[in-house]
Amino acid sequence: RSKARRARKETSTATLDDVAGIESAKREIAEIIDFLKSPEKYRALGAVMPKGVLLVGPPGTGKTLLARAIAGEAEVPFYSISASEFIEMFVGVGAARVRDMFQEARKDAPSLIFIDELDAIGRSRGAGLGGGHDEREQTLNQILTEMDGFEAHENVLVLAATNRPDVLDSALLRPGRFDRKITLDRPHKDARTAILQVHVRKVPLADDVNLEQLASRTIGFSGADLKNLVNEAALTAARENLHEVNAHCFDLARDRIILGEQRDTRLTP
Ligand code: ATP
Repeated sequence: RSKARRARKETSTATLDDVAGIESAKREIAEIIDFLKSPEKYRALGAVMPKGVLLVGPPGTGKTLLARAIAGEAEVPFYSISASEFIEMFVGVGAARVRDMFQEARKDAPSLIFIDELDAIGRSRGAGLGGGHDEREQTLNQILTEMDGFEAHENVLVLAATNRPDVLDSALLRPGRFDRKITLDRPHKDARTAILQVHVRKVPLADDVNLEQLASRTIGFSGADLKNLVNEAALTAARENLHEVNAHCFDLARDRIILGEQRDTRLTP
């Protein structure tokens, strides 16, 4: 029996307040949440909501967090699976998992399905590394079959995340499949300030900490990097037996993260 896990079902408690610096995407997201909350309102007006929405953005920009926040705000069950897990499976297992997940999500509708790393199975079929992609292809086909098979009124929304929209099979992007796109960019300065504010909510800060200044000094950091920065700073403060996290702790944490990343890139050819 394959060790790969089944789709995970959870009740998300994340809210949109947890996701910062994505102002441009928020209107579209508000509509999706409203639809999941009261699908009958849309149906009565003859409006058809998308079945699939693609979340596009570099690693650590909050795609998973955003999917959870949508489920949390709409108070619908959240099913998630990572497409990269299918790669290792025996032929047929991935497709069966996908079928099961859609079946459960339908029973639970309105509900949300989240497929992480869609590009792991959703790469253009012509552009593979040559032969032997049976499992990947079967899994991809099963996702397409499921999405084509359910009607808009079944109220299952499929969100999929990718940082490589350019390699996706065009079949995925056709109308009735992932025909909407929400883009999450690496955060600019104001967005970084907002993200830092989210992550220091439970952190006692010393008076010398200036989040805006910190945001200007963290160009290129993703949301995940900023979360890590706050945590590293708090760990440093704990190590020094401080009761508050001060600017010096943040400086050390920032240097450590930047140096760590440089070391990583040096190791990767
Ligand atoms: P990956 O592509 O690597 O899976 P992702 O885009 O799905 O990354 P998440 O896993 O959602 O990113 O981000 C990791 C963590 O970073 C989140 O749980 C959150 O704590 C923090 N984070 C990322 N983006 C944001 C944001 N915009 N606002 C607040 N926190 C964020």
